Amino acid sequence: MALEEYKGVFIYAQQVDNEISSIAFELIGKAKELAADLGTDVTAVLLGHNVGNLVDSLAEYGADKVIVVDDPELETYRTEPYAHALASVINEYKPEIMLVGATAIGRDLGPTVSARVKTGLTADCTMLEIGDFPLSVPEGKEDTQKHGQLLMTRPAFGGNTIATIACPDNRPQMATVRPGVMQKIEPIKGAKAEVINYNPGFTKNNKYVEIQDIVKAVGTVENIMDAKILVSGGRGVGSAENFQMLKDLADVLGGMVSCSRAVVENGWLAQDYQVGQTGKTVRPNVYFAIGISGAIQHVAGMEESDIIIAINKDADAPIFDVADYGIVGDLKKIVPALTEALKAE
Ligand code: FAD
Repeated sequence: MALEEYKGVFIYAQQVDNEISSIAFELIGKAKELAADLGTDVTAVLLGHNVGNLVDSLAEYGADKVIVVDDPELETYRTEPYAHALASVINEYKPEIMLVGATAIGRDLGPTVSARVKTGLTADCTMLEIGDFPLSVPEGKEDTQKHGQLLMTRPAFGGNTIATIACPDNRPQMATVRPGVMQKIEPIKGAKAEVINYNPGFTKNNKYVEIQDIVKAVGTVENIMDAKILVSGGRGVGSAENFQMLKDLADVLGGMVSCSRAVVENGWLAQDYQVGQTGKTVRPNVYFAIGISGAIQHVAGMEESDIIIAINKDADAPIFDVADYGIVGDLKKIVPALTEALKAE
């Protein structure tokens, strides 16, 4: 594999039901930074059927080029035809970097494709940058650093450490990236991208999985990743019923309720509301951490919030280390009082 043949930063532009997933725009935002450091451009890879109408939004969010594979085989996500299409695009266009969202689809697609194109993949990244690898040269040792590598950072060992991983000897350098961590850039209305239609050829009469029926989840779960204000509760809230206090505060503020993993494990709220390493990554304008101790796995999912307000009866709780404002006391007294005071405003 001649590494210098591989050029450009590619992102997988996930779409579901003819709608681009937010993660695709987040990936373009990060890809722009990486591409600027490498002196190259950003290409979005759009797979689906009748998806040409989605090209413009990818351009407006910063893609310089869009490679479109449009085929009835790609009507609905299935591993085999999607992996075939993306692996074919990689083999044909040879990107230096290939980013995929760590969504349910991306976690399936990314590793399948990386195995097919015989490169590595760092899963669930929370930080990406261009740098040197190894990161440092021990004193007295020969400098064998390779420059311009993609440094892929992710929590490891149950979130107890942060690992930075590189893929110096294979291309593309592939990563899946956690939704909600990277920032979209402001879209530029009317921006255009170069569009490349590519047909990798699909084998018909194959043994692909056949979709018989799609049953949508019943009920609408609010997406805490969209909230500007989150009122998040932990084990300290004490019961499912007590979450009504937090809901009342969230309603006054026009926000949503979220929680720590302890709350999900206790069955007080569904997993959709969990913030953290094994939950969602959020970056609201205001994050209330109420009765939450501030375990590293929780903090990993909320530390990028603009303003963090912690309420905890333990003045030494680690959550106060990341909080901008802290109130030490019993949440059962403080939360209703805060809600009443806000209502009175
Ligand atoms: P606790 O740690 O029990 O804290 C409760 C807090 O409430 C305490 O600080 C206490 O002082 C305070 N309190 C109690 N009563 C009151 C009161 N009346 N008024 C005010 N304060 C009060 N956790 C997550 O949240 N998200 C994750 O995604 C996640 N992923 C994980 C992944 C792995 C691999 C592992 C090993 C763990 C993970 N965890 C995660 C669990 C994490 O380590 C903690 O156990 C969890 O975050 C603790 O939740 P908590 O802060 O609600 O509960």
